[in-house]
Amino acid sequence: MLKNCEECGKVFAHPTRVLCEDCYKKVQASYQAVKEYLQQHPGATVAEVAQATESDVDLIYQFIREGRLSVVPKDAGLTCEICGTPIQVGRICRKCRGELDPSSVRGPQPESRKQPDEARVRYLDQIRRRR
Ligand SMILES: [Zn+2]
Ligand SMILES: [Zn+2]
Repeated sequence: MLKNCEECGKVFAHPTRVLCEDCYKKVQASYQAVKEYLQQHPGATVAEVAQATESDVDLIYQFIREGRLSVVPKDAGLTCEICGTPIQVGRICRKCRGELDPSSVRGPQPESRKQPDEARVRYLDQIRRRR
């Protein structure tokens, strides 16, 4: 499965990658540098990060869009996926994250939530009856 690298146009073979080995390594190195710089400078702008890591601004925006950065530049234009509030870290704002119950990630399910309690009550009743 031969294809042309999206970055340099070189022909290479890989089932999923769109970049040749050299370009892929370059992107990975940039990603590491960008990630580490942002962890050390959480308030940095895209331009600052690009300059400090010698990375392409487009590449940094690509990392942001892909959600690969846990800390994003402050002018990345990132918004909460739930309420749309501008955020600097992650994909969901602190408020929505706080309100999100890990057990209800797939949406509120009041019916199935009641069941364990009812089952437990029934179980306790059985125990009481046995005594
Ligand atoms: Zn390439
Ligand atoms: Zn939110």
